[in-house]
Amino acid sequence: MELQTLLDRSIKNMGSGMNSVVKASALEMIKRAYKEGIYVQISAGYRSMEEQAALYGQGRFYSYKGKSYSSMSKPKVTKALPGQSFHNYGVAIDYFLVSDDGKTALWTINTKWKRVAAIGKELGFKWGGDWTGFKDYPHLEMTGGLTYSQMMAGKRPSLSLKFKPETETIVMVPPKTEVASEITKEPSKNKGDETIRSIQKTLNSRYDAGLIVDGYNGPKTKAALIQALQTELNKQFGKKLVVDGKWGAKTKAAIVTVKKGAKGNLTWILQAALFLEGFNLGSLDSDFGKNTESALSKFQKAKKITADKKAGKATFTELFAA
Ligand SMILES: [Zn+2]
Repeated sequence: MELQTLLDRSIKNMGSGMNSVVKASALEMIKRAYKEGIYVQISAGYRSMEEQAALYGQGRFYSYKGKSYSSMSKPKVTKALPGQSFHNYGVAIDYFLVSDDGKTALWTINTKWKRVAAIGKELGFKWGGDWTGFKDYPHLEMTGGLTYSQMMAGKRPSLSLKFKPETETIVMVPPKTEVASEITKEPSKNKGDETIRSIQKTLNSRYDAGLIVDGYNGPKTKAALIQALQTELNKQFGKKLVVDGKWGAKTKAAIVTVKKGAKGNLTWILQAALFLEGFNLGSLDSDFGKNTESALSKFQKAKKITADKKAGKATFTELFAA
């Protein structure tokens, strides 16, 4: 994964209309993370009022300036109306992590993700993961103390760089055709990961998890998956676990082994947990077949536990213990 590729894709995704300090700081953040072996890319920066309207219209009936922006089939992704997002003023960015080969967007809120947020904060950003209440993990903003109402009224923050820029300037390189792959496009249009959204939807409908369907793997999604596991262990195996979404000794003791040939909700939970850890197994079909076995085996090797291709206490502990 080359640094320049991350920079090029990010420049493209930030769009024109970015505040120059915010843009330069975003690129500096990518460089600093890269030096630590963390590959990060910006998925969105400046968003026009119309683009904001289209985002707001997901999951709602909504029209803006006489034009309909409703797309009811999609889940709600924002509470911000046009003008109510700092993206509309080019002072906010969203980021995500990229796999070592540059081909996969990673949405797990892990140590690396938080390290990027910390680098961003060193550079003067405020992080959406620090918000109380609704957390926006990919989001970083630099508002100079202004509210969006003030910006809507035409005020702009006066920002200054918190680092010494290199003399070399970054030239916008037109992306090669193979670079314009899904990864450059998908996240900017469509927040989060499609499979994670489907996991969140299933957790909501099957287990009443009450998750925001945002496509990000945060602590709430993980807790909901543990709740699902506890529910299934109680229902199917007569265990008497407290369904609290916390991984503890009692839950661990109640674990039954899931192996090839297994079908059903427990297998689905295993598949979802593996996916959230970054192990892609094609589809989450609730059927423990070849793909699940191979993803499980890779996970066990990565975690240095016995790679017996069966998910027992050790595997579930690695998947769910904080
Ligand atoms: Zn954002």
